[in-house]
Amino acid sequence: MSGTAKFIQQRQEVFRYIPGFDIEAVARAKVMVIGAGALGNEVLKNLALLNIGYVVIVDFDVVEPSNLSRSVLFREADCDGKTLKSLVAARRIRELNPSIKINVINGDIAADVGLGVFRRMDVIIGCLDNILARQSVNRAVFKIGKSWIDGGLDDTSGSVASYRNGHACYECSLSKSDRELIRQRFSCPDKIRRYASVGRMPTTPINASIIGALQVQQAMYEINGITDQDLLGKKLKFFGGINEMLITNMMEVHEPHCLSNDEYPEIIESDNLRAEMSVGDFLKWARSYFETENVTLRLDDEFVTSLMSEQTGAIFTVGIPRLSLDDQYVERFKQSDEDVIHIKDIVYEVDDHFPDQLLTLKEIGIPHLHIVNVLVDGDDKYVELTGDEAFLEFT
Ligand SMILES: [Zn+2]
Repeated sequence: MSGTAKFIQQRQEVFRYIPGFDIEAVARAKVMVIGAGALGNEVLKNLALLNIGYVVIVDFDVVEPSNLSRSVLFREADCDGKTLKSLVAARRIRELNPSIKINVINGDIAADVGLGVFRRMDVIIGCLDNILARQSVNRAVFKIGKSWIDGGLDDTSGSVASYRNGHACYECSLSKSDRELIRQRFSCPDKIRRYASVGRMPTTPINASIIGALQVQQAMYEINGITDQDLLGKKLKFFGGINEMLITNMMEVHEPHCLSNDEYPEIIESDNLRAEMSVGDFLKWARSYFETENVTLRLDDEFVTSLMSEQTGAIFTVGIPRLSLDDQYVERFKQSDEDVIHIKDIVYEVDDHFPDQLLTLKEIGIPHLHIVNVLVDGDDKYVELTGDEAFLEFT
């Protein structure tokens, strides 16, 4: 018997002790794990041991020495300043389970993961350490009518919650102080991106293990259709200091103006569409497909077309998605060390008047396999870049 076959047989033994879990369903399941830090490590380790079929790992960070005290998959040799968490986590879980199929996305959840990727998942698990990334996952997942499992760590405590449109909304559950943190982050025009420390909490290996395990348990409930004890619409809080857990029901309806309350009614798939096609070719496709000249591509995030120096008032023509605009990019436009660069002009809508029709959709901030919003004669349509399907290949 080969090593892998033996491994699978051992897994089947484990499942005999967990009533209601279907080994075939688990081996077919596709799970996206967003964030490969302390919590992501625990979740990925458990998924590998449970013989989950397919895993997508999303992270953009490199391994740092401070990660070693709480991350089961990282080693000292990984802290060379260039080893990506996503890749090393993938390698280590493959050591744990050689039959697992993995797709790694080295990127930012808000900018680099198309909605079509979310759409192809059975379970979406957030192992994130900041509010903005969670808000971004919530909006994405709700658009396609799926649920996601959020895990959060707070000193010695932590929480697990499962959100789905109509059951509970992460965005609506934000406190006043959370919202204030987000507002401050966006109020300064040239302090851009890497929402880094917004709402970040310290972590121990103990609460990371417990919360990560509860997230995976919820994932198994979802995969196996077990609903009587799952956490959909609920939040489980674990209090490490007093060894107690508390489950509360969350609010089912959205607050007015919640931006997560935007489920796409129908998604049009087309193999002819890819993120690497030009803006001009996309608009041409849309005019032909919808049989009208009146088509506009609406962007999820701003596309910056000019920057301005505060010191001299000089204006610079650029073309970069706002989410890609970081301090390093802005540096080259500074007229002196004290200069501050501001965003001058942004574009939300792309049509025949867009200045550079040769830019690709990717270059204007649309990720592979995304579902884009096209305004057709005043009506919203949702079109998937299905030609990018190979992007989600598992190896
Ligand atoms: Zn909401």
